[in-house]
Amino acid sequence: MATGSGPAAGKTGDDTPTVGIVGAGISGLALTHFLEEQGVQTLTFESAARPGGTIQSREIDGRIVELGPQRLRLAGPVKSLLDDLDLTDDLQEGNTNQPLFIYHDEAFRVAPLSIREALTTNLLSWRGKLRVLAEPFTDGPKSGESVEAFLTRKFGREAAHRLFAPLYTGLYGTAADDMLVEYSLGKALERHGIEGSILRAVAPYALKGQDPPPIVTFEEGLQRLPAALADRHADSIEFSTPVTAVEPDGNGYEIITDSDRYSVDAIAMTASAPTAARLLKPVDPTLAGTLEELNYNPIIMVHLAADGDIVGHGCQILPEAGYTTLGMTWNASMLDRDDVYTAYLGGGRDEGLLERDDEEIGAIAAREFESLLGAHATVLNVHRWEPGMPAYDRSWSALDRLDPPADIEFVTNYTDRAGIIGRITDAKGAAERLVDGE
Ligand SMILES: Cc1cc2nc3c(=O)[nH]c(=O)nc-3n(C[C@H](O)[C@H](O)[C@H](O)COP(=O)(O)OP(=O)(O)OC[C@H]3O[C@@H](n4cnc5c(N)ncnc54)[C@H](O)[C@@H]3O)c2cc1C
Repeated sequence: MATGSGPAAGKTGDDTPTVGIVGAGISGLALTHFLEEQGVQTLTFESAARPGGTIQSREIDGRIVELGPQRLRLAGPVKSLLDDLDLTDDLQEGNTNQPLFIYHDEAFRVAPLSIREALTTNLLSWRGKLRVLAEPFTDGPKSGESVEAFLTRKFGREAAHRLFAPLYTGLYGTAADDMLVEYSLGKALERHGIEGSILRAVAPYALKGQDPPPIVTFEEGLQRLPAALADRHADSIEFSTPVTAVEPDGNGYEIITDSDRYSVDAIAMTASAPTAARLLKPVDPTLAGTLEELNYNPIIMVHLAADGDIVGHGCQILPEAGYTTLGMTWNASMLDRDDVYTAYLGGGRDEGLLERDDEEIGAIAAREFESLLGAHATVLNVHRWEPGMPAYDRSWSALDRLDPPADIEFVTNYTDRAGIIGRITDAKGAAERLVDGE
């Protein structure tokens, strides 16, 4: 049962258990949705004035740019949530079948994601391609092994370094030799039931020519999704209301904000690890200490406008190419967004970059774009994500010690998968666990 004097608390007063949710990014919003669908009351608190957390779309000079995720894959859990929200008819399909590139040895080379691309790409030598075919004879992940060592053992040095490591680590901005396979890629393989050979597991899909789910967005950007969830559950969500602490309270917890205290039966935490550590210290200082160990990589997004006949989803740039840019999304091509390109900088590659001002960083991204793609680019926007992306680096071994008290559920991209599909799936699972009282 929830108590408190704020507007959200006013909706309670009966004996229905209430879950207090910290954060109204996609994790917190999807969890609010799945819990309310099952008749559980929620009180969701968001420090910002708007929903979505990392999902933020902006209109700049008449163009839509995405400050966080650039596109959505219409996989099962996303599709059913969009159906629930009556959003499916408003989706805009992107150009799903365009290639993704890796910039290696002064050229953009197709990252092979199908058998045809694997045969034709010039990213790998013939020797490198043949070595990949030996993967079914290698073992699964070993304890203490880095992602780089694991991928090299599986696929050979060339394919590991030029293809698999950049594809996997691209989102996190961490070098593959700083990531332990058992806390990162190994968990993803486990979720897909892959123990031994990765090639054997994916071959049936590749041979059938099964396409991945289509790439989609909305005319006004991805923010439409969190906005629709927030509208649907407007009575349960308090915006501009940062949680300042969580305290134990009898059999439940108290959520404390600047102006109120709310008693709830369970807590769902969706905020970043450093924030969760601060908020949960009064409940469990050891838990807070463990969360503080997790490293993040700050990421800077530079949105550019450029003319050019560039076709593809974007690229990853190998570190030895000497660019500060980690990779790009070519929104103009992938999503038919007028002239828009998004460059990612930062991560673990250039920590000094954060000290520079936005103008300097924008100029670096535009200059490198021109050097890489031969088209003049102007800067639309520079956005800094801090703390940024969970690094999934060696500090993730701390998760072995993450032992939250009963009725505190983590629904986060550092305890489970990053990405919108992963967040929605995790929220659905957490809602089921909270309802079943597991
Ligand atoms: C640059 C970038 C690009 C990405 N690209 C993609 C992509 O293309 N496709 C994809 O699927 N995924 C992508 N991701 C990953 C995906 O965006 C995230 O995994 C997901 O959006 C995280 O959602 P979340 O709700 O778990 O966390 P968040 O979005 O971080 O939400 C947490 C919320 O908690 C709130 N909060 C924090 N402190 C408090 C407090 N004290 N009180 C109340 N509220 C608080 C925050 O304001 C925020 O709204 C990308 C991520 C980044 C950073």
